[in-house]
Amino acid sequence: MRINGATELYGIMGNPVGHSLSPAMHNSAFQALGLNKAYLPFPVTDVAKALDGFRALGVRGVSVTIPHKQAVIEHLDSIDPVAEKIGAVNTLLINESKIHGTNTDWLGANRALAEKMALRNSTVLLLGAGGSARAIGFGLLEAGAHVTIASRTPAKGRELAKALGVNWIPLADTAKQQADALINATSVGMAPRDDQSPMAEAALTNFQVVMDIVYAPLKTRLLREAAKRGCQTVDGLAMLLYQGVAQFELFTGQPAPVEIMAEVLRSRFA
Ligand code: NAP
Repeated sequence: MRINGATELYGIMGNPVGHSLSPAMHNSAFQALGLNKAYLPFPVTDVAKALDGFRALGVRGVSVTIPHKQAVIEHLDSIDPVAEKIGAVNTLLINESKIHGTNTDWLGANRALAEKMALRNSTVLLLGAGGSARAIGFGLLEAGAHVTIASRTPAKGRELAKALGVNWIPLADTAKQQADALINATSVGMAPRDDQSPMAEAALTNFQVVMDIVYAPLKTRLLREAAKRGCQTVDGLAMLLYQGVAQFELFTGQPAPVEIMAEVLRSRFA
């Protein structure tokens, strides 16, 4: 990568950000397309000051990760309507000191699932009521899918279902549910407790497609059992990749080199 006086700056703000795969993914994509852009990690504790810094320094675009996805909202100049409904922003686009916030997490989840099935009028059982479930839930509604939420803690699950205008059921009752797709947006199955699954194996035959957003490990117990039961599967790398692809396309206005970005992620997970 050649840095010069015309290099445009991008980055990711979070705390911590040292583990993030986004710098490798975006810099590889910039290089592949010969773009004079660079992408850096920004460890941020003071959100307001960081955004003023981006404005002052002419930073062009920023990914936002934990714990700042909600906190950035009050400091924006404008926000995308879906991001506003979700209540979380993972992408900042900065133009003439004005910061626009948007959310590509839901775009990433939709694109990952849409590789296996049509989303419009499909039925989806969505496990979880945390930040990712919220983004995925609103995204599925945007795509015209019919969603049911299932989660462990009733109050949180009911609150999300109410915000989405959909039904909620307890996680313990999911074995009786049928839908075109099952999405695990809980952290169940994540290392070190990767011997766990949020759904009994025998019930997986109720779904054509099973998607797990957990990416550590990539082959979760849920996905291994789903494959054994004949379901199509989507792993957590797909959502991670496609949220980055959507970000790259917003940053550059050009189609992303998807295969190069996927290869960066695959090599890190290998
Ligand atoms: P979060 O906001 O903390 O939500 C976690 C959810 O998991 C909550 O609904 C929680 O249930 C549920 N949960 C946790 N432990 C559980 C258990 N033992 N039994 C049942 N439910 C349980 O987290 P998040 O940000 O949404 O992330 C969730 C997972 O997605 C994490 O593994 C994260 O690494 C992964 N993720 C992947 C991507 C991707 O691009 N692939 C992106 C973001 C996150 P309660 O409602 O009962 O608290």
